[in-house]
Amino acid sequence: MAFHSLEQICRLCREENKSFYRVVLEDDLKEREVSEEESHRRMNGIWQAMCQAAADYDPSLKSSSGLSGCDGGKAERYFASGDSLCGDFIGEVVTCAIQMGESNACMRRIVAAPTAGSCGVLPAVLIPCHRRFGLEDRQIEEALYVAAGIGQVIASRAFIAGALGGCQAEIGSASAMAAGALVYIKGGGEEQICDAAAIAIKALLGLVCDPVSGLVEVPCVKRNVIGAVGAMTAADQALAGIHSFIPADQVIDAMREVGEKMDVSLKETGLGGLAATPKAQSLR
Ligand code: SF4
Repeated sequence: MAFHSLEQICRLCREENKSFYRVVLEDDLKEREVSEEESHRRMNGIWQAMCQAAADYDPSLKSSSGLSGCDGGKAERYFASGDSLCGDFIGEVVTCAIQMGESNACMRRIVAAPTAGSCGVLPAVLIPCHRRFGLEDRQIEEALYVAAGIGQVIASRAFIAGALGGCQAEIGSASAMAAGALVYIKGGGEEQICDAAAIAIKALLGLVCDPVSGLVEVPCVKRNVIGAVGAMTAADQALAGIHSFIPADQVIDAMREVGEKMDVSLKETGLGGLAATPKAQSLR
């Protein structure tokens, strides 16, 4: 994909009277020289892999470090009790995010979106929405193009890896992608998609990457939850007509600046932040 700004995508939407999804799709067709059906088939494969990863979650599995596992089962049981604070829908989002994060920690098959560490965010919002709103797979595929477009712009203007920009770049990017996808699913336009992406990133701006023992487990699994739930609230804000005061591209630029200024100990080295706490150090 060749987009360097979300504004560029929005401009094409306006000038050519196309949806955000279609602009991103057509760019893919041009770049990879494939047919629309081939492109969609590939996106459907990604969606099916996400669903399969969720279906394959094993609540009895612990990671080889012992740092993660089994919490997905606890979440499922808790939310099934019907007495949670967040309710059923958010409960599904929370549960799926934990389960995907744990599956990654346990070396199960997941879909990196955009990275393995943030693999839980997109499925955690898309799978419950697919069920709740009775969506067709095709609608989810279209939403995934929207997410891909946002992710591509972030990768081009800033970064999507914790080692380069901290966790804001990983979970923050995934949250922005998910927020944009949700707005699309709910019928929002390109400006609302950008507002949602901006709101989602802003909420996680400055988040450091500080994995305990250098493993993508603590705090990564639970950060997927916050990325997913944040995406839901960002999407709802945008759909309510609430704008991001800072335009999305400038938010992404701010994320890059913050990431560049971040100390190396807070960029996936496992040396600072939570990784440097006495509890984390006791594991070494
Ligand atoms: S803390 Fe680092 S390794 Fe863990 S999810 Fe965030 S960016 Fe990825």
